[in-house]
Amino acid sequence: PFDMLVVGGGPAGASAAVYGARKGIRVGIAAERFGGQVQDTMAIENFISVPHTEGPKLAAALESHARTYDVDIMNLQRATRLIPAQAPGGLIEIHLENGAALKAKTVVLSTGARWRLMNVPGEDAYRNKGVAFCPHCDGPLFKGKRVAVIGGGNSGVEAAIDLAGIVAHVTLIEFDVKLRADAVLQRKLTSLPNVTVITNAQTTEVLGDGSRVTGLAYKDRAADRAHQLDLEGIFVQIGLVPNTEWLRGTVALSPRGEIEVDSRGQTSVPGVFAAGDATTVPYKQIVIAMGEGSKAALSAFDYLIRLAPV
Ligand code: FAD
Repeated sequence: PFDMLVVGGGPAGASAAVYGARKGIRVGIAAERFGGQVQDTMAIENFISVPHTEGPKLAAALESHARTYDVDIMNLQRATRLIPAQAPGGLIEIHLENGAALKAKTVVLSTGARWRLMNVPGEDAYRNKGVAFCPHCDGPLFKGKRVAVIGGGNSGVEAAIDLAGIVAHVTLIEFDVKLRADAVLQRKLTSLPNVTVITNAQTTEVLGDGSRVTGLAYKDRAADRAHQLDLEGIFVQIGLVPNTEWLRGTVALSPRGEIEVDSRGQTSVPGVFAAGDATTVPYKQIVIAMGEGSKAALSAFDYLIRLAPV
């Protein structure tokens, strides 16, 4: 069995694996796609001490760093079930889609999250070419330009307020007849001179010139009339979904499906720790995921050294 089995190979999982391996214990890492969301990212400019890098480059570096240690890397492996230890200090099982079952004394869950998509024409084609998901990451790329934010919940309104300080103009588009964000955020939003809010509007298409976003088409749902906006960027803020469906019923999850962790990364199941975008820890960022991954691995090691000798 593994001393530590990491499930997920993004920044959180890679960091956990390196920290675990450096303790001289037997570490494995099973990942559906090594690199995680970083694989889908173009410019990364907030990974501190590295002013600029690209997603695929950072993803390759995550893997090569893990490979400098004796880590059993199982790529293209999807976990489907976690079975807690039968007795305190016993082995935890992780079942894979291919039918195999891995056993470990401790597990670090780092399966990350995925952005909910609008599923309209152009969204996929112009991803990273004007279609963005993370204002903390990509906001500065649109300095002085016109952008839209799709979604009037807390994350959409926060994004619009944040972006209004950087870009020339923000149009916030909400499907419903009213915004769902907290009243205090809505008051802040409407006080800003360079923000327009359009409610009861359905985004129908991302428009572009073949290389970049040039606009957005939406339908006024009340009048059933089509409109177009000219702009350079579209931030989709209609939800971040944690990849935790497979843990439902075994590990305590928040109402949003995030794995509940304490300040040490411990979950509700003994010996099972978690880190990164899949957890309740706020602000989904690479530096945060890495820090949380190392913390979860150190907590798992702390748990291991307290297990009764066998
Ligand atoms: P993830 O990166 O999501 O990795 C999850 C891992 O788990 C993957 O290996 C996945 O394949 C695997 N997995 C999922 N389910 C299973 C399963 N059932 N079994 C096995 N493996 C599984 N952050 C920044 O700090 N700066 C940026 O500039 C930036 N830009 C971004 C741009 C885009 C387009 C996106 C989508 C995100 C961006 N982010 C950025 C956010 C950043 O990528 C995430 O915060 C970070 O990757 C989270 O790391 P993680 O390890 O928790 O999860």
